[in-house]
Amino acid sequence: MNKKVQCPCCGEMCDWEGNPFRPFCKKLCRDKDLGNWATEGYRLEANEENPSELDFLKKKPPNDEK
Ligand SMILES: [Zn+2]
Repeated sequence: MNKKVQCPCCGEMCDWEGNPFRPFCKKLCRDKDLGNWATEGYRLEANEENPSELDFLKKKPPNDEK
């Protein structure tokens, strides 16, 4: 029996058995999802723990004149 699952990334039906990227249909989808996770996680963490540091990164001065 070949179980099928819906890829959470693109919504396509894909094989569950023998699918190394399950529950995603292909590597691209898995990578995309992991990428989203990593980005969101980083953003959330940065916002909650270090808002000033994030601001600092955004407002990096073009020249450091002394
Ligand atoms: Zn997919």
